Amino acid sequence: MALRFKNSFSRVKEDFVPIEDGKVKIYTCGPTVYNFQHIGNFRTFMWGDILRRYLKYKKYDVTYVMNITDIDDKIIRDSQAQKKSRKEFIQTYVDAFLEDLDSLGFLKPDVQPYATDHIDGMVEMIQKLVERGFAYEIGGNYYYKISAFKDYGKLANLDMDGLKVGARVSADEYEKDSASDFALWKAYQETDGDIFWDTPIGKGRPGWHIECSVMSQKYLGNHFDIHTGGVDLMFPHHENEIAQSEGCTGSKSVNYWLHGEHLIVEGKKMSKSVGNFFTLRDIIEKGYAGVVVRYLLSSTYYRQQLNFTFQGLDAARSSLERYNDFITNLESYAGGESDNSAAEFIAKTKKGFEDALDDDLNVSGALGVVFDFIRDINRLKAENKLSADERDNALTAMLSFDSVLNFRYHISSDDSDSSEIESLIQQRADAKKNKDFALADKIRADLLEQGIILEDSRDGTKWKKKV
Ligand code: AMP
Ligand code: ZN
Repeated sequence: MALRFKNSFSRVKEDFVPIEDGKVKIYTCGPTVYNFQHIGNFRTFMWGDILRRYLKYKKYDVTYVMNITDIDDKIIRDSQAQKKSRKEFIQTYVDAFLEDLDSLGFLKPDVQPYATDHIDGMVEMIQKLVERGFAYEIGGNYYYKISAFKDYGKLANLDMDGLKVGARVSADEYEKDSASDFALWKAYQETDGDIFWDTPIGKGRPGWHIECSVMSQKYLGNHFDIHTGGVDLMFPHHENEIAQSEGCTGSKSVNYWLHGEHLIVEGKKMSKSVGNFFTLRDIIEKGYAGVVVRYLLSSTYYRQQLNFTFQGLDAARSSLERYNDFITNLESYAGGESDNSAAEFIAKTKKGFEDALDDDLNVSGALGVVFDFIRDINRLKAENKLSADERDNALTAMLSFDSVLNFRYHISSDDSDSSEIESLIQQRADAKKNKDFALADKIRADLLEQGIILEDSRDGTKWKKKV
């Protein structure tokens, strides 16, 4: 099957054909750094990471740009409330965001541009839009004239007949029914304090939408392959991006628009304004490793809503442990006879994995195939039908799947830790020998409380850390 994506623009699945053979250029709207990102935000970034990794798996040369929005109304409001400079204020959240990307096993973006480093480019684009009849100025503010762009509303499927021509909106975020001329540049107001730029189009600051048009053009060119974001960005943000970029160049800007559904909590979008959110830090504090969150966020098809619960997180942890135990145990398996069936399992799994991901990144389908593989190979092992060569081939296959999923974890256990655990394991074995099962159970429970899982087998008791 060929790789295909559901394109939000055409609303159907389309075969993926890159603009330049073997190369893929992707732009993702990055975070607005006025607070810690919640795990809903990370859901959207997560499938972007899987997309990128899968394209690399398919040997594409991928350029991935994710911007940082470091100027907007909320940043001005909250930095002023905290009596901090804009730069000092955002730095905390930029650092936290980068740390969180690391904890979640993301590949670093190839380019991570800051909006405020591109003010000159934004001014130039606004000037060009004025020249071309797509923008106008009123009292130092610049607005995009949506009636001048004939394709306005195509992405979000707006009914343009009902629009009031000439109505203007200055806020960056608004609903479909208030679609109007939107702000490209906001003239300086007293309340902006010392947050402004002195430019050839006046003193002020950019609107949100113009940022992404400028940064995507600068780093990916006027025409690039894929643009991603959450569904809430489709309107107005991406609709406005198209109007700006295409108004400026007169030609198509993006081939494939991919939008992911939300992470929800009890039927509502997880969001800062509703207050129903968890940051990654909240979850890690509750004893879950970042990779567990990675598993949970990536394992549902991105165009489906995902309901967040702690039970879901626990289930993700169990699946993740099964996945990792399989690899660890396979690595230490000496190899046995062969009944020549492993090669077929490997080929079938590779095909199933790729077919699922080729079909608009169906990660849950791909995982189903991988867990069938784990079951099949475990059975071969148990029946002594897996040779050392077949073991190596199975491992190579798993690791290539893992280059996309990145679920493999390596939890180090330092020595001091382990001697204490070993001694408790011995005490537990002694307690069992003495038929003091209450003590044996207590030792196991205490260790579990500290995140240590004991596993009894014929060869004695092994331990591992919980993720
Ligand atoms: P923001 O920092 O608000 O601009 O959001 C960054 C990204 O997170 C955008 O692509 C949003 O669409 C996305 N996003 C926000 N809330 C959620 C959610 N509950 N589930 C999934 N994605 C979200
Ligand atoms: Zn954007």
